Order: sequence, then C-alpha cells, then structure tokens
Amino acid sequence: MTQLASNELLSSALTAVGAIAEVLVPGDDGYAGTASALFADGTPDLVIRPHDAAGVAAALRYAAGTGLAVTVRSGGHSMAGLSTSTDGMIIDTRRISGVRLLDPASGRVRVGAGATWGAVAAALRPHGLGLTAGDTSGVGVAGLTLGGGIGWMVRRYGLAIDSLAAAQVVTADGRLIGADAVEHADLFWALRGGGGNFGVATGFDFTARPVTSVHFGEISYQAGDVPRLIAGWRDLMRAGDEKLTTTLNLMPAMPGRPGGVTLACCYASPDGAGAAQALRPFRALAPVASDSIRVMPYAEILEDMTPLPPGLRMELRNTFFTTLDDARVAAVGELLAGGGAALSLRSLGGAAARVSRDATAFAHRDAEVMVAAAFLIPQPAPPGMLPEALNRWSPVAALGSGAYVGFLGSADPADVAAAYPPATYRRLAAVKRRYDPANVFRRTHNILPARS
Ligand SMILES: Cc1cc2nc3c(=O)[nH]c(=O)nc-3n(C[C@H](O)[C@H](O)[C@H](O)COP(=O)(O)OP(=O)(O)OC[C@H]3O[C@@H](n4cnc5c(N)ncnc54)[C@H](O)[C@@H]3O)c2cc1C
Repeated sequence: MTQLASNELLSSALTAVGAIAEVLVPGDDGYAGTASALFADGTPDLVIRPHDAAGVAAALRYAAGTGLAVTVRSGGHSMAGLSTSTDGMIIDTRRISGVRLLDPASGRVRVGAGATWGAVAAALRPHGLGLTAGDTSGVGVAGLTLGGGIGWMVRRYGLAIDSLAAAQVVTADGRLIGADAVEHADLFWALRGGGGNFGVATGFDFTARPVTSVHFGEISYQAGDVPRLIAGWRDLMRAGDEKLTTTLNLMPAMPGRPGGVTLACCYASPDGAGAAQALRPFRALAPVASDSIRVMPYAEILEDMTPLPPGLRMELRNTFFTTLDDARVAAVGELLAGGGAALSLRSLGGAAARVSRDATAFAHRDAEVMVAAAFLIPQPAPPGMLPEALNRWSPVAALGSGAYVGFLGSADPADVAAAYPPATYRRLAAVKRRYDPANVFRRTHNILPARS
C-alpha cells in the first residue's frame, strides 16, 4: 500500500471508527505491538483497537464497507500465526480486558475477551476464586476459551469452557449477540471449541471456583527407559486423584546435552497431606534428579513462554489418545528417540471427561492424554526439513484421534477439518453458515460454512 493510500485509509477509518476505537496504520506508535505476535510478524494495512463491543461493531461495518479482510487478535499466542496478517485489518481486542465479579455468591465473573489469563487469575485471587485456564499467563482469554482451554486444573474442574456460562459476540454484520444455554444455544455450543469462526467475542461470563493455593512444580527424573516411564506415568494417572493434573515433558537429546524427562504437576488444593499422598507414587516412578513442587497461590503458577532463540521457529502438532496403550507409548518413544522434537503428554480425564461429547464443540472428552510435539525449525528452513518433521509425526498422529486447535500449528483446511470428529465439524459448519455465511472470519482455524 502506498503512503497516500495508507493516509486515505487512515482518514476514512478515523471518520468511521475513530470516535470509539484507536485507529493505527504502519508507522504509528503501537502499530507494531499489534502487527507482531509470538509466532508471526504481520504488515496489516490497518489496526483497530476498540474499547468496547460498539467499537468492534463499527470496525466490522467499516471492513464490510471497504472490503478489508478481517483478522482478530487477543493475546497473540496463536501457534499457527493467526494473530496477525500481511494485509487487511486487525481488530485487536486487548483494550476490552476488564474482569468484573458479577455475583460473589455464585462466582459469576465477566471477563473481557482481550484479558490475559494471568490478569484474570490476579483479579480473582483476592476473592479466593480462580478459573481453570491454561499454563501461561500471557495467553489471551478469547483464543484459549474459543479452543476449549486445557489447564492446570483440567481434571478437577474440566476445560475452561466447562466453566463458561455465556459469551458476548459481535457478528460480521455488526450485531452484538449474547449466547448462552438458552439464547443462541447453537452459537454457544460452537463457541466452546469451534474457535474464532463465528464473530468477534468481546466478553465471557464464567463461573469461578473457590481456588486459593495449589501444590505446583516439577519432578525431574533421571530417566533411563523412557517408554517404561511413560507407561508407569499412565498407570499412576489412571488411578490418580482428580485434583492432580500432570504433564510429562520429554526433551530430546541434543548435541552436547542429554535428553530429559520432567513431570509438571499441579495438585489443585492447598491440602498438604492430600498432595503428599497423591504425589508419592510419582516421586518413586524413577530416580529423581530434582523436585520443585511446593504450595503456592494459583495466580502465581501461570508462567510466560521463554522466547525462542532468534532464527528458530516452532512447528506444533498434537493429537488425542483415547487409550495410551503400549503401542502408542512405543510410537511416542520412537519419535523422541529420533531427535528434533520436544514432546509433552498432558493428562486428561476427571471432570473434563464427565461432559458429554456433544455438549460442546470440543468433543475429545474420552481422551486419556493429549500428546503434542514441537519441532524446532531453523529459519530459513533447510529444504525438506519441515516435511521430514511432519513425516516423523505421522505415525503418532495415525494412532490418535483429532487434534486440539489451540495447539495446532497449521491452518490448512484439511488439518482443521481433521481436528474435529466428522459429526462435530458438520454441526460447526451449519452454525458457521447461520452466523457467518460469507466467511468473514476466515483468518482463523477456519470452519467452512455448510452449503445449503
Ligand atoms: C506459550 C503457549 C502456551 C499455551 N498454553 C496453553 C494451555 O496451557 N492450554 C491451552 O488450552 N492452550 C494453550 N495454548 C494455546 C492457546 O490457547 C491458543 O494459542 C490460543 O488460541 C491463544 O489465544 P490468544 O488470544 O492468546 O491468541 P490470538 O493469537 O490472539 O488468537 C488465537 C485465535 O483466536 C482468534 N481470536 C482471538 N481473539 C478473538 C476474539 N476476541 N474473537 C474471536 N476470535 C478471536 C484469532 O483470530 C486466532 O485465530 C498455549 C499457547 C502458547 C503459545
């Protein structure tokens, strides 16, 4: 876009939206802070930073009138680089970030779509409340919630969407809609796992739980036989206390550095005796090199991602195992032994599994484990390196079922479709057709509108 065109765009956008939202073009202060995200750098023609739903609606009407393609951004943690774009308009919801306790008795709390989970945890802490979300403080409320939300209390309280009571959404034509179990129930179903396909979420009403301190930290093992350790972890989790959620992190050996196995643990209760009992068998699973588990406020356990060293990119894939049987353990062990991929196995089950498969668009309720692989790819990537990494992932994917869009590093339509069970995808496509038939919200893990 020429400077003149950029100026024209700025002036017409300011006229249309400027009274209720900040409008930025390349070169403006603050532009780069929206155009760049964790996994991608963009060059949008226009950035709109609304203060409220009215600003979002005005931005969407302006986009419709000018034909600008729309990208929506909240926390900017999309692993597929979907937080930004090389053209069009970005609607950055981070100014809509209030956290308001609506009803202390029931724990109902209204959270702005642009808040981060770290800010939510900090705001709820003085009330002795908390919400199960993810593991990272800077992740956005909108992106994580719309994908499902698998966090440190997933076995105790379910997914983030399992605490969701209602959502406020602005549709492509600028209408503000409230969706819950009664009003726009089809949309409410789709928002809980179907991603950013249906409109711009501006707020979410959650039911927070009594949460104060938890037992949190890592056990680092001196692991010899990794497949045996994975199988041992699986057996213990099957019999384990639901208050305990764990992630087994497997680091490959690298030149000059041996591989490593750590178990990140969250026992979602301040009860010391309960935590000690639940954790005891995990401390005996293999020789322990270090153990950092301690009691701490839930609001302090969410961490930020350490940025990757320059010149490296992370390519992420994941799938769900209904049963982590020995064949699947072996496939994970082989992928690790081949090098180049950091793997994590997240325990599921508990409260997340008690929600029926068709109650939300996140349908992987019967999964015992989510396995995720992060391939580190130098930039620019040596020819053939990415296809080779994906080839190495495919035997594990073939044993899995679907994928979690939150951890899906690809926006390829086939990968998005494969993330959902076919019946779930069909239902999502029908809701998409109803709320966004023109596919305005396509710059996301895109569900294609059903044909009539
Ligand atoms: C370091 C790291 C740790 C993570 N840990 C966890 C975890 O523990 N558990 C978990 O479940 N997930 C986790 N995730 C995945 C995370 O949930 C997804 O990447 C999520 O989409 C990020 O949301 P965001 O708002 O930060 O990102 P964004 O990049 O801003 O948005 C992500 C997607 O949602 C869309 N979107 C954003 N805002 C809106 C909105 N207001 N309305 C409609 N659509 C919108 C965007 O267009 C984009 O497609 C992690 C990701 C990272 C990078």
